[in-house]
Amino acid sequence: MTQRLLGRDREREVLDQNGEPGDGPGCSRARSAPWRRDPDLMATCSHMDHVKITELPASVAGCEDCLAVGDPWLHLRICLECGKVGCCDDSPNRHASRHAREDGHPLIRSLEPGETWSWCFVDEIGLVIPSVRGETRIPPSPMGG
Ligand SMILES: [Zn+2]
Ligand SMILES: [Zn+2]
Ligand SMILES: [Zn+2]
Repeated sequence: MTQRLLGRDREREVLDQNGEPGDGPGCSRARSAPWRRDPDLMATCSHMDHVKITELPASVAGCEDCLAVGDPWLHLRICLECGKVGCCDDSPNRHASRHAREDGHPLIRSLEPGETWSWCFVDEIGLVIPSVRGETRIPPSPMGG
Protein backbone atom coordinates (compact mmCIF):
# COMPACT_ATOMS: atom_id res chain seq x y z
CA MET A 1 0.00 0.00 0.00
CA THR A 2 2.61 2.47 1.09
CA GLN A 3 4.87 1.48 -1.74
CA ARG A 4 2.20 1.98 -4.34
CA LEU A 5 1.47 5.45 -3.02
CA LEU A 6 5.13 6.36 -3.19
CA GLY A 7 5.32 5.07 -6.70
CA ARG A 8 2.39 7.21 -7.80
CA ASP A 9 3.91 10.30 -6.23
CA ARG A 10 7.15 9.81 -8.05
CA GLU A 11 5.32 9.33 -11.30
CA ARG A 12 3.48 12.59 -10.78
CA GLU A 13 6.73 14.41 -10.05
CA VAL A 14 8.21 13.20 -13.27
CA LEU A 15 5.13 14.28 -15.15
CA ASP A 16 5.28 17.74 -13.57
CA GLN A 17 8.90 18.18 -14.51
CA ASN A 18 8.54 17.12 -18.08
CA GLY A 19 4.96 18.04 -18.75
CA GLU A 20 5.54 21.71 -19.43
CA PRO A 21 5.90 22.45 -23.11
CA GLY A 22 9.02 24.39 -24.07
CA ASP A 23 7.24 27.31 -25.63
CA GLY A 24 8.64 30.74 -26.35
CA PRO A 25 11.48 31.88 -28.58
CA GLY A 26 14.87 30.51 -27.60
CA CYS A 27 13.62 29.11 -24.35
CA SER A 28 13.84 25.43 -24.94
CA ARG A 29 16.84 25.15 -22.61
CA ALA A 30 15.31 27.18 -19.76
CA ARG A 31 12.88 24.53 -18.60
CA SER A 32 10.61 25.80 -15.89
CA ALA A 33 12.25 29.02 -14.76
CA PRO A 34 9.90 30.99 -12.49
CA TRP A 35 9.86 34.13 -14.62
CA ARG A 36 8.30 32.21 -17.49
CA ARG A 37 5.04 32.38 -15.62
CA ASP A 38 4.74 36.06 -16.54
CA PRO A 39 4.15 36.43 -20.28
CA ASP A 40 4.89 40.17 -20.16
CA LEU A 41 8.43 39.55 -18.95
CA MET A 42 8.92 36.96 -21.65
CA ALA A 43 7.91 39.44 -24.28
CA THR A 44 10.02 42.32 -23.08
CA CYS A 45 13.35 41.04 -21.78
CA SER A 46 15.19 38.34 -23.66
CA HIS A 47 18.28 38.30 -21.45
CA MET A 48 17.26 35.87 -18.76
CA ASP A 49 20.09 33.56 -19.80
CA HIS A 50 22.48 36.30 -18.59
CA VAL A 51 21.30 35.83 -15.02
CA LYS A 52 24.13 33.93 -13.34
CA ILE A 53 23.78 35.38 -9.85
CA THR A 54 20.76 33.88 -8.15
CA GLU A 55 21.97 34.22 -4.57
CA LEU A 56 22.70 37.77 -3.48
CA PRO A 57 25.76 38.32 -1.25
CA ALA A 58 25.09 38.68 2.47
CA SER A 59 26.80 42.03 2.54
CA VAL A 60 28.86 44.34 0.34
CA ALA A 61 31.24 47.19 1.17
CA GLY A 62 29.87 49.59 -1.46
CA CYS A 63 30.40 50.37 -5.12
CA GLU A 64 33.59 48.54 -6.04
CA ASP A 65 34.88 51.15 -8.46
CA CYS A 66 33.98 54.09 -6.21
CA LEU A 67 35.74 52.48 -3.28
CA ALA A 68 38.83 51.97 -5.42
CA VAL A 69 39.16 55.69 -6.18
CA GLY A 70 37.56 57.10 -3.03
CA ASP A 71 34.44 58.51 -4.72
CA PRO A 72 30.96 58.59 -3.16
CA TRP A 73 27.93 56.73 -4.48
CA LEU A 74 24.23 57.13 -3.95
CA HIS A 75 22.49 53.79 -4.55
CA LEU A 76 23.97 50.34 -5.09
CA ARG A 77 23.20 47.86 -7.88
CA ILE A 78 24.60 44.41 -8.56
CA CYS A 79 25.32 42.90 -11.95
CA LEU A 80 23.33 39.68 -12.25
CA GLU A 81 25.81 38.22 -14.71
CA CYS A 82 29.09 38.55 -12.77
CA GLY A 83 28.09 39.93 -9.37
CA LYS A 84 29.97 43.21 -9.69
CA VAL A 85 28.59 45.91 -7.40
CA GLY A 86 28.15 49.31 -9.01
CA CYS A 87 26.43 52.59 -8.35
CA CYS A 88 23.20 53.96 -9.83
CA ASP A 89 22.68 56.60 -12.50
CA ASP A 90 22.08 59.25 -9.83
CA SER A 91 25.58 58.62 -8.51
CA PRO A 92 28.42 60.80 -9.91
CA ASN A 93 30.17 57.88 -11.61
CA ARG A 94 27.23 55.72 -12.75
CA HIS A 95 29.37 52.61 -12.49
CA ALA A 96 26.50 50.13 -12.81
CA SER A 97 25.41 51.33 -16.24
CA ARG A 98 29.01 51.82 -17.35
CA HIS A 99 29.76 48.21 -16.44
CA ALA A 100 26.68 47.02 -18.30
CA ARG A 101 27.75 48.91 -21.41
CA GLU A 102 31.45 48.06 -21.32
CA ASP A 103 31.15 44.42 -20.32
CA GLY A 104 27.90 43.65 -22.11
CA HIS A 105 26.12 42.51 -18.97
CA PRO A 106 22.54 43.73 -19.44
CA LEU A 107 20.87 43.02 -16.11
CA ILE A 108 21.30 44.58 -12.70
CA ARG A 109 19.34 44.29 -9.49
CA SER A 110 18.93 46.91 -6.83
CA LEU A 111 20.72 46.26 -3.55
CA GLU A 112 18.81 48.95 -1.67
CA PRO A 113 16.96 47.68 1.41
CA GLY A 114 13.45 46.56 0.56
CA GLU A 115 13.96 46.86 -3.20
CA THR A 116 13.67 43.70 -5.28
CA TRP A 117 13.49 45.10 -8.80
CA SER A 118 15.93 44.44 -11.58
CA TRP A 119 16.66 46.48 -14.69
CA CYS A 120 17.64 45.49 -18.20
CA PHE A 121 19.87 48.11 -19.81
CA VAL A 122 19.33 46.70 -23.29
CA ASP A 123 15.54 46.53 -23.22
CA GLU A 124 15.31 49.47 -20.79
CA ILE A 125 12.66 47.87 -18.66
CA GLY A 126 12.30 47.15 -14.99
CA LEU A 127 11.35 43.67 -13.93
CA VAL A 128 11.30 41.37 -10.93
CA ILE A 129 13.25 38.13 -11.27
CA PRO A 130 11.94 35.68 -8.68
CA SER A 131 14.86 33.28 -9.07
CA VAL A 132 17.23 35.90 -7.61
CA ARG A 133 17.06 35.46 -3.86
CA GLY A 134 18.56 36.89 -0.73
CA GLU A 135 19.03 40.28 0.81
CA THR A 136 22.28 42.20 0.95
CA ARG A 137 23.42 44.35 3.83
CA ILE A 138 24.84 47.57 2.45
CA PRO A 139 26.55 50.52 4.13
CA PRO A 140 24.77 53.89 4.10
CA SER A 141 25.46 56.02 1.06
CA PRO A 142 28.44 58.37 1.49
CA MET A 143 26.18 61.00 -0.11
CA GLY A 144 23.55 60.59 2.56
CA GLY A 145 20.95 59.13 0.20
ZN1 LIG B 1 16.70 42.30 -21.54
ZN1 LIG C 1 30.45 53.80 -8.35
ZN1 LIG D 1 28.78 42.09 -14.85
